[in-house]
Amino acid sequence: MEIYIDGEWFDKENARVSVYDHGLLYGDGLFEGIRIYGGKIFKLKEHILRLFEGARAIRLELNLSLEETMAAVEETVRRNNRKEGYIRLLATRGRGPLGIDPFSCPRSTLVIIADDISLYPATLYKTGIPIITASTRRLSARIFDPRIKSLNYLNNILAKIEARDAGCPEAVMLSEEGYVAECTGDNIFIVKDGHLLTPASWHGLLEGITRNTLLELAEKKGIPSKETTLTRFDLYTADECFLTGSGAELIPVISVDKRMIGDGKPGPLTARMMKAFTELIYS
Ligand code: PMP
Repeated sequence: MEIYIDGEWFDKENARVSVYDHGLLYGDGLFEGIRIYGGKIFKLKEHILRLFEGARAIRLELNLSLEETMAAVEETVRRNNRKEGYIRLLATRGRGPLGIDPFSCPRSTLVIIADDISLYPATLYKTGIPIITASTRRLSARIFDPRIKSLNYLNNILAKIEARDAGCPEAVMLSEEGYVAECTGDNIFIVKDGHLLTPASWHGLLEGITRNTLLELAEKKGIPSKETTLTRFDLYTADECFLTGSGAELIPVISVDKRMIGDGKPGPLTARMMKAFTELIYS
């Protein structure tokens, strides 16, 4: 495996960043997760744009232009001869002295890994998964905008721990106000009376690229969809439910807090969206 770090490629054993990197010391940095399908990098530009927007928001100076970053990702995929897989991109504040001052770090660091990822066992994509509501709330956009895909995921990790403790692979996180926001690493959709509904970004969530792709797909297929406000009641009484993300792709949800969704099996619109998504990614 060849891993990109700041313009050079290293094998896995030698791909290292400094313990003085502020990404490690303070979570001061950003990341992206991107899929490779059939030799093509899915929505590369959208991911890189999100990285650049995050960088602007946290005043992290990237060393490459947007085009150069895309080229570095493409080159990493090429060198690793990847036709399928997952790319992890990290942009950290770089090496600096102890102390959080980001301006003490002269140069940011960019890491690109092309590897495999398997968030859930393959069978769960057929059977669907049970989820719970975590008591850990999603960080409010008034405190730290979740649209910044930062290297500090402790908020989500605490919710993931709750999920695992409850014997579930995933947990839904509510906003500070108690509305449904998203899951720990994926966005959430429900189906109600033939409508596809997902929380609007102002409820404080990462505006997922898979989520946005799904909304576009729904529009193309003439399926009514809406970004809206959802409560736990809406989840409990949904006809169908599924999660989306670059890592998770599309995974059906069959229960929320032990309330069975529909008949406890992945629903027909979920299956339709999964099929449409698969067709799109290999088109
Ligand atoms: N929400 C969170 C918190 C995430 O970390 C992710 C990505 N892993 C998503 C949603 C899904 O985003 P995307 O579809 O862009 O991968």
